[in-house]
Amino acid sequence: MPIHKMLEKADRILKRGRIERLDGGSFNVIGDHGTYTVVQTLDGKVHCNCPGFIEKGICSHSLAVSKYLQYYKK
Ligand SMILES: [Zn+2]
Repeated sequence: MPIHKMLEKADRILKRGRIERLDGGSFNVIGDHGTYTVVQTLDGKVHCNCPGFIEKGICSHSLAVSKYLQYYKK
């Protein structure tokens, strides 16, 4: 998926409130194809357990959480 499409999807996830903050810097993200767990590592990076992230190191869920963290801080 091209990056601009991923960013569009990330915006949609954010606007629809599909991010649920859990304890310990992790998040449930409800995507189009399932719910994934996104975690923020100590160096501030975000990791997702969806197949796209595992393959490419980036996905709409991790981007959505990055944006969420920018907007809502910690
Ligand atoms: Zn993902």
